[in-house]
Amino acid sequence: MTQPLVTPVEGSTPRQVLFYCLQPLLLIIVIGHWYLDPLQEETYLLTIVFVQLVLGFSEHYFPGRPAWLTNAREKTRNVTLVVILSTIALYLSGLYQTWLTGPLEVFRHSIGLDIWPHEWPLLVQLFMVFFLSELLWYWMHRAEHRWFLVWRLSGHGSHHSFKKLGALNFGLNHPIEYFFILLPSALVELTFGVGVAAAGAAILTVTQTSVAHANIALNSRGIGLAFTTNKYHICHHSAVLQESNTNYGCSTIVWDRLFGTFLDKTIDETGTGPTEPTMWEKFLMPFKEPDDTAIAPGSEQ
Ligand SMILES: [Zn+2]
Repeated sequence: MTQPLVTPVEGSTPRQVLFYCLQPLLLIIVIGHWYLDPLQEETYLLTIVFVQLVLGFSEHYFPGRPAWLTNAREKTRNVTLVVILSTIALYLSGLYQTWLTGPLEVFRHSIGLDIWPHEWPLLVQLFMVFFLSELLWYWMHRAEHRWFLVWRLSGHGSHHSFKKLGALNFGLNHPIEYFFILLPSALVELTFGVGVAAAGAAILTVTQTSVAHANIALNSRGIGLAFTTNKYHICHHSAVLQESNTNYGCSTIVWDRLFGTFLDKTIDETGTGPTEPTMWEKFLMPFKEPDDTAIAPGSEQ
């Protein structure tokens, strides 16, 4: 099922503006807004709503792949799932804070790891947390695709099973996988005792992962040296095993470039195989793989 990509044509000004400006502008707006009041707790949820509205309208009027547009029923289902899963994620994030803050503080003091540069500019600290957390996520995500047991335990196949991608897919993971997804940033934040910059990094990450799944034609030159673009991440969602084993960085692409897993390719088809599992089958994926799975670890044998 080939999904032709609409590229910005000469003379189509809105598509060209979106192509070049949407991702950099969103990043500047969300980081700038956070920077004006870094202690404002509502900023994270407001950012998700704002970014999803901007990307959702852009996808509706200027879809990169028109065949990936969802109907009203599918959109309602996806929005409902994202609200439920985001609530679960917030709860799990609180659990990690409760479980890990004390032990990691003791660990930090015991080995003299009080080295976080709290006096450095806040934006520099933000990018330090961002790149460090993404480094941990890179190896965790790579492990999900490398070892069948981790693939199953994390339910990562559920996230890959969608045949149509859009910005909402940033949050369409198996509930179990949130234990994995939230761990890298919690470890970096609590091991180093980062403080307020961690909230800025979380806002940058959630914006980047939303853009990375968006069904809009976006530029990758320049910005794609450091940040994951949707071209790179959609390549990771390929239904072809070799293509899906690339571009593990969902927010930054620097670790893929460094560790040799970067691929710059426009792919034809996403999903775990030729067909999309039902919602119930997706939920059961930690226990039972769909029969036509082509990208689970070991599928090439
Ligand atoms: Zn993956």
